[in-house]
Amino acid sequence: MPVIYEGDDLASLIDSLFELQDGDVICIASTIVAKAGGRTRFLDDYSPSPSAECIAAAIGKDPRFVQAVLDESEEILLEKPFILSVTRFGHIGVNAGIDQSNVGKGKILLLPENPAASAHKIRAKLSKDCAVIITDTCGRPFRCGVTGVAIGWSGIAALRDWRGEQDIHGRKLEITLEAIADEIAGMANLLMGEAGDGTPVAVIRGLQYARTGPGIFMPENKDIIRFRLKS
Ligand code: GDP
Ligand code: MN
Ligand code: MN
Repeated sequence: MPVIYEGDDLASLIDSLFELQDGDVICIASTIVAKAGGRTRFLDDYSPSPSAECIAAAIGKDPRFVQAVLDESEEILLEKPFILSVTRFGHIGVNAGIDQSNVGKGKILLLPENPAASAHKIRAKLSKDCAVIITDTCGRPFRCGVTGVAIGWSGIAALRDWRGEQDIHGRKLEITLEAIADEIAGMANLLMGEAGDGTPVAVIRGLQYARTGPGIFMPENKDIIRFRLKS
């Protein structure tokens, strides 16, 4: 893939570089979806509010960066020792997923405004009937290290429902929902790398998956999360 700029047509690029087949799952790093969608910003574009200045001083970050995080967040769950927030599209992550790597000096890259909509749009333009997952590298609660997660998808059920199936002793599973979109995103992220690899797309072939189903974000659980973090 070339270096991606605002306005680039990712669907056409992917179609021209891969021999896609029906059923392929196309994982695309949010970074290039954001670049193509014009989500690059200059730090100098931001004038930090007093609140941004205050958070920035407490965690040793650039106040302009903190302002960008506040602007992209619907709600701040944690200000210290890092900013954990709910993005406007429902994803919970550190720094609202704003990146400073693979963008260029003095610049930042916001997450795509609506990754699900981006996934739909790209999928609709492909020559084959594929699923699309937009991935981002994120930290996980209570564990060290980052991994790829799905922040938007189309044409694939994000969760595999195991409820009602039997374990090896014949006991029925009652609650297991497997977050397959995240599992696939994790595998894709492993192939993409984090630095100068230049591999923003991975195609997974041969996977059986349902096409539609409920999502992964848990907006109804925000109150619980807020309560636990602040208590
Ligand atoms: P994120 O996980 O979505 O935040 O994206 P990363 O910054 O970790 O990049 C994922 C992969 O895409 C890495 O292999 C990067 O080198 C690559 N990458 C990022 N931007 C571009 C680009 O504009 N063109 C190409 N070819 N690769 C890119
Ligand atoms: Mn990222
Ligand atoms: Mn990454």
